[in-house]
Amino acid sequence: MSVRVRFAPSPTGPLHMGGVRTALFNYLFAKKNKGTFVLRIEDTDQTRYVSNAEKYIVDSLDWCGISFDEGPGKNEKFGPYRQSERKDIYKKYADALVASGQAYYAFDTSEELDALRKEAEENKTVFIYNSVSRGTLNNSIKLSDDEVKAKLKSGDKYVIRFKTPVDQKLILDDMIRGEIVIDTNTLDDKILFKSDGMPTYHLANIVDDHLMKITHVIRGEEWLPSLPLHSLLYEAFGWIQPKFAHLPLILKPVGKGKLSKRDGDKLGFPVFPLNYTNDKTKEITKGYKEEGYFNEAFVNMLAFLGWNPGTEKELFSLEELIHEFSIEKVSKSGAKFSPEKTNWFNQQYMQLKSDEEIAEYYINENKEKLNKFDKEYIIKVVSLVKERAVFTKDLWDLSNYFFEAPSNYDPKASKKQWKEDTNEIMLQVLEIIKETETFKSLEIETNIKSFLKENELGFGKVMPPLRLAIVGEMKGPHLFDIIEMIGKENTLKRIENAIQTLS
Ligand code: GLU
Repeated sequence: MSVRVRFAPSPTGPLHMGGVRTALFNYLFAKKNKGTFVLRIEDTDQTRYVSNAEKYIVDSLDWCGISFDEGPGKNEKFGPYRQSERKDIYKKYADALVASGQAYYAFDTSEELDALRKEAEENKTVFIYNSVSRGTLNNSIKLSDDEVKAKLKSGDKYVIRFKTPVDQKLILDDMIRGEIVIDTNTLDDKILFKSDGMPTYHLANIVDDHLMKITHVIRGEEWLPSLPLHSLLYEAFGWIQPKFAHLPLILKPVGKGKLSKRDGDKLGFPVFPLNYTNDKTKEITKGYKEEGYFNEAFVNMLAFLGWNPGTEKELFSLEELIHEFSIEKVSKSGAKFSPEKTNWFNQQYMQLKSDEEIAEYYINENKEKLNKFDKEYIIKVVSLVKERAVFTKDLWDLSNYFFEAPSNYDPKASKKQWKEDTNEIMLQVLEIIKETETFKSLEIETNIKSFLKENELGFGKVMPPLRLAIVGEMKGPHLFDIIEMIGKENTLKRIENAIQTLS
């Protein structure tokens, strides 16, 4: 049987990076096993529905290169893939469970249930709708058939609840966690079908996984508590169960607590793949893409949240991840998110990318400043400075002096490096530069060095002030490379300007 997995987000807002990781692991598992990756939109909860969320989910997966084989608008073999468009499918499954005595109608109003909860609270207990209480409540277990019929006929509101079997020891199997044993008496009778005519997550999720022939359910740990019910539902329907794998939580950088949607703004790093504009408040939440992360770096970082290949290798393309990935290497314990490590990945990808590609980013992000310059020149600049850049947005500060003369000089460095005799020495340096015919880094360096030697001058007398004159501060790659790049005329002008300004 070929592998079929699904990513089943609910469109209740922007997709959190934890959701992207779930999608990624499903995708990797599918591709590794030459299987199918399905996108299903679980939008049965109309109260939490957010109109721009589905597009955001699709755009995010797209940015990450996680393409789905089947989903809304794509290869709809088992479609539709939006649960709201499958509404009519679910009722008959709920009815079938009622008919076989494995589910029941419950007519309890929310006021009645609230009162029971309150009463239990007063008695320092908790009200649970389960095998102990169900016989005394307003449902088709307690009421006679005629009473139930009459209620249904008169249009009384009802929900359908699952009748959890009593005194059973459930033995569940999770591909990551191994065997999990659950006593069914600890479970409550979950609602499968709501009074608004919609199925709950549990029913719709099971029915769709079955109808869409899902073989492996890979999802976040927060769904582990639903596993007993899901397993019981498969049994109740007499369906073959998929295999389950619950991925470890992603933890805050401190290592404790789940990384939540709200952490990004608080802790100063994005938790969403793309910028998201709240459809009501128009408030914008930051995304990795717009903050300057490469999609490859983001995906590589996510892959390591709870998985590792068991080797030293850390940089993996999506193709390599597909090749290496295995569920067995996913860990049980929570995965600590590290913004520093994420930046490290970005810096690594910056180095892996060609100077041409980085130059494209650089030019696009700085059209006005760079439009007078040759592409070849910009590529060369990139090759000299990108080693120090984490983001392409860092490039301007790292290399502005290749494009414009310093407009001021770092005051601290000026004080330290521009001494009384510096003007005099720099006037001589000017002459040497003027006389250098082949304006190449090595040539210029050789000439300056012999000047130092002839005059018995230390390196420190010339190099730091010369850098200050050319760059404006004490940063940048090999000084003679910079000088060669900006050319003789600019070099002379910059030294003259420094002499005038700093003396
Ligand atoms: N709709 C659920 C979610 O939002 C899906 C959980 C599952 O994969 O079963 O994550």
